[in-house]
Amino acid sequence: MNRIVLASRNKNKIREMQVLLDELISTPLKVLSLDDIGFTGEIEENGNSFEENSVIKASVPAELGFIGVADDSGLSVDALGGRPGIFSARYSGPDANDQKNNEKLIEELSGTPDPERTARYVCALSCRFPDGREGFTVTATCEGLILRSPKGHGGFGYDPFFFYPPYGKTMAEMTMEEKNGISHRGKAMRLFAERLSLMLKSDN
Ligand code: IMP
Repeated sequence: MNRIVLASRNKNKIREMQVLLDELISTPLKVLSLDDIGFTGEIEENGNSFEENSVIKASVPAELGFIGVADDSGLSVDALGGRPGIFSARYSGPDANDQKNNEKLIEELSGTPDPERTARYVCALSCRFPDGREGFTVTATCEGLILRSPKGHGGFGYDPFFFYPPYGKTMAEMTMEEKNGISHRGKAMRLFAERLSLMLKSDN
């Protein structure tokens, strides 16, 4: 069976990718984590964009002889010139958490009028091969508005403040299925599965 290594130690991400690839790709594929291949190091995400960071991470398993996959995602707010962007997870500093990040975001946007509170989630997913085949990167976005107060208890990160106009609710008010259908990550994963499927088919 073909194996791919997701450059992550997050079991939820590994499981999510396994379920998606089982659904979308006819060639059986086993998704492994960095722990599964015995990689104990830390990967320094020192790129300048979501794309660059996802390539840096996906290259690690590829250099060890595996098909490497990695995602990088975050929130880009127009009124903040695209911030927090690639720094979304650590926006409020070294001891950042979701609550502190959201507090900082809302504070920074306090003077921004409603129509200018536009933002998008971005997800880049990269695939790198160990055998010289050219890798690829897909990117997807989800457009929304940043509210002044939170709504809903689902999701994570900035979701309680991220309002999605077509559904009239925040991402934290959506079911997992609703969110996966329209989210940056769901869309990027489907694009990724299509591309990988084509590559694996042309191998056989
Ligand atoms: P990572 O790509 O998993 O490292 O995510 C980076 C950061 O972006 C997260 O810690 C969140 O702050 C933010 N983020 C990415 N995707 C989402 C999402 O779907 N909802 C809320 N926050 C997100």
